[in-house]
Amino acid sequence: MNRWEAEREAFRKLAGAARAPVAIVGAGLSAESGVPTFRGPGGLWRSHRPEELATPGAFQRDPRLVWEWYNWRRGRVAQATPNPAHRWLAAYERQVPSFLLITQNVDGLHGLAGSRNLVEFHGNLWVVRCTRCGREREDRSVPVPVPPRCPDCGGLCRPGVVWFGEAIPRDALARSIAAVQACDLLLVLGTSAVVHPVAGLPDLAPEAPLVEINPASTPLTPRARLSVRAPVGEFLAPLLADGTEENG
Ligand code: NAD
Ligand code: ZN
Repeated sequence: MNRWEAEREAFRKLAGAARAPVAIVGAGLSAESGVPTFRGPGGLWRSHRPEELATPGAFQRDPRLVWEWYNWRRGRVAQATPNPAHRWLAAYERQVPSFLLITQNVDGLHGLAGSRNLVEFHGNLWVVRCTRCGREREDRSVPVPVPPRCPDCGGLCRPGVVWFGEAIPRDALARSIAAVQACDLLLVLGTSAVVHPVAGLPDLAPEAPLVEINPASTPLTPRARLSVRAPVGEFLAPLLADGTEENG
């Protein structure tokens, strides 16, 4: 008997029955791709805690330091490829077109796996934004020259991500809220569910069954219909072979 077989059966049923599912995912989903989470092993960089670097204040004080950290992260992500969890989410979207994936990850691996109905809640690591004129552009160089300058106005550029203490872009927030309010299944995968406002989204769907997949418990565990203590890629890998019959 395979590990987590009973949980997989329960998961199959819930995912197969949903007509308006939403997934909320976090850094744990990319852990099996080799991208460290903030609070797990490998999250520290030169003894700095991410919570001290991913802030507007840190960038104001020392933009070079923050950019060097982003260059290190870009290097890690550039070598990473989607794992079975990214691939299952992309396949689920093909099966249930209304499925919305809300990710806190900035690594772009969902796009690589083929997800299109996607809200990148915290932005994207490969986007840089000018702090003077506000223009954004994609820059995939690793490393970027530190600190990068805007080709249009010469202003200082910053990573196109949402830092601790910053507001979520209005469109991303509105789209996420609407989808969660209308959902009939909430998948919460690989997130510690403590970073707000994303951690508050499940409260908008108190009636929807919640499925959590995470090796550790989280503040959402007590309300989960199904709580699976497993690495999410390892749990979902066998389901990739299911094809489309569940919703067919
Ligand atoms: P977090 O670092 O706070 O928590 C990660 C969670 O993933 C933990 O609960 C942990 O138990 C779980 N986890 C670890 N390995 C797992 C696995 N194999 N399968 C399932 N779960 C696993 O991350 P967070 O909740 O996403 O929030 C922190 C913030 O850090 C986010 O806002 C995000 O923007 C940012 N971040 C992004 C990336 C990325 O883009 N890949 C990486 C690190 C941090
Ligand atoms: Zn500019």
